[in-house]
This record gives sequence, C-alpha cells and structure tokens, in this order.
Amino acid sequence: MPESPEVQALVEFLDERIRGRAIADLDVGEFRVVKTRNRPPSSLIGARIRRLERFGKHVGLDTDAGWLMIGFGRNGWIRWTAPEDQPSDESVPEIARIALDDGAVMQVVDLGDFLAVTASVVDAPTDASGIAALGPDPLAADFDRDAFDRALGSRRKQIKALLQEQTSFAGIGNAYSDEILHRAKIPPVVHAAALDDADRERLFHATVDVLRGALADRRGLPPDQLKQAKVAAMAVHGRGGEACPVCGTTIVDRVFSGASAQYCPHCQPDRSAA
Ligand SMILES: [Zn+2]
Repeated sequence: MPESPEVQALVEFLDERIRGRAIADLDVGEFRVVKTRNRPPSSLIGARIRRLERFGKHVGLDTDAGWLMIGFGRNGWIRWTAPEDQPSDESVPEIARIALDDGAVMQVVDLGDFLAVTASVVDAPTDASGIAALGPDPLAADFDRDAFDRALGSRRKQIKALLQEQTSFAGIGNAYSDEILHRAKIPPVVHAAALDDADRERLFHATVDVLRGALADRRGLPPDQLKQAKVAAMAVHGRGGEACPVCGTTIVDRVFSGASAQYCPHCQPDRSAA
C-alpha cells in the first residue's frame, strides 16, 4: 500500500518534470475508477499543469482546467516514461495514460487483484472523496506535539488501527504503523486511552522520525524503485520470523481485528500480561 513517504517522493520526482507542461492526451482504459462521471478526465486534455501535490496517500494534479485527484488504493502507482526514454514493451496493468506535450508519459497502474485506484476531476482537492476529512499529516512542517495529541485523542481504539485511520493521521498505512510502533516500543493492540505521557512523547517522535527519515532516504529515487526501497528499509514490517534488528528476538506476525501486524515481543511487550 503506498504510504506518505513514497507518495511524497513520487510527487517531488514528477512535479519538477511535469510542471508547466500541457496534457496532450489523457486516455482512461478502466472507466470504473472514474468517480466524476459528469466530468471525465479527458476534459483535461489541452490543460496546462501547474503542479503535482500530495494529500495523505492521494495525489492531485493541479491544471488550469481543474484538479485530477488520484487515489492509489492498495496497489496503485504511477509509471513514468521520460521524453528521452524508449517506450517499454513490458505489459503493465494500465488504468489511465497521461501523455504530455514534450513526449513524456505518466501511466496510472493498479497492480492489485481488485481494482482500487480512483480518479476524480474537481475544482478543489477537498471536493474529492476523503480529502476534506484527512487528519493532520506528520510530514507537514507544522505537525507538532499539539497536533499529534489532538489527532491521537484518548479513544479506546487499538493504536495500530488508529495510526492508519486517515481521518486521524493522513498518510500512514500498514507498513509504517508497524515501524512507528516498533520505534516507540509500544505494542500494536494497546488502546490510545491507555498511553501515558511518556508513551505519547515517544510515539510522537517515532511517528515524525520514521516518516521523515523514510522520505529523506527515498527522495530522488525514480518512481519504479520506491516500493523496493521501502520494503528493504523495514525493521519489522513484513519480517515475521526474522530477528529484530534492535534486540535479536524473533519478530511475531499476528492478525488483530482482521489486519496483520508484525512486532517485536521483547521491544514491544504486551502490557495486559505485564
Ligand atoms: Zn526487539
């Protein structure tokens, strides 16, 4: 699932290459993804691109004819072909193709079994589904301990699920919630209401450090290398059965409320048993 560090790195990589270009052609091959039927993406053909921006795990293409908002869902991404690149013969699950006036091509792809990419053409980003309700973004410059405490609240909700709730925190998914909790030494099932001030302070710093550190590491990588770089950088996520890089204990892979979590039982001890 694309999460904020990789989506931000993607946005920065593309933004500097597409800013000011015109959309020469925009072809949607899979119409089920279009959420604004009265305003199809093809209405943006001929429009000039002002910038590309990130909203949580979504991206928005700002043009002089409106915004094209793209939600990646679980397995969506953008494949980039620069004007000087040879077109690839490789078959990709293309959802939409955006051709620019300099010969560059952005292909919106969905690599999942179930189609989950969304596309909307709107006047303002907040007109697209889910954007207005996004919580504060830990990658934003103004995200501080106060914003974190307000978003965390004191709910009786498991902390891993809460971190992934886009209306609480924008941009975090299954992988970075595991990484953040490991860094903060907090087990995935503890409720937000049960965290004391020292926990909250550690969790705030872990959230910011993990996400900003990941962005710093990913920045500048081409779009097709970002997912691989993310997977390689994980300390516990996706590493059930391997040794914890901090203490060497075997990382546990467990399903809570229908979602899997990987954590270190030594670094993140279960508090109900303590
Ligand atoms: Zn450990």
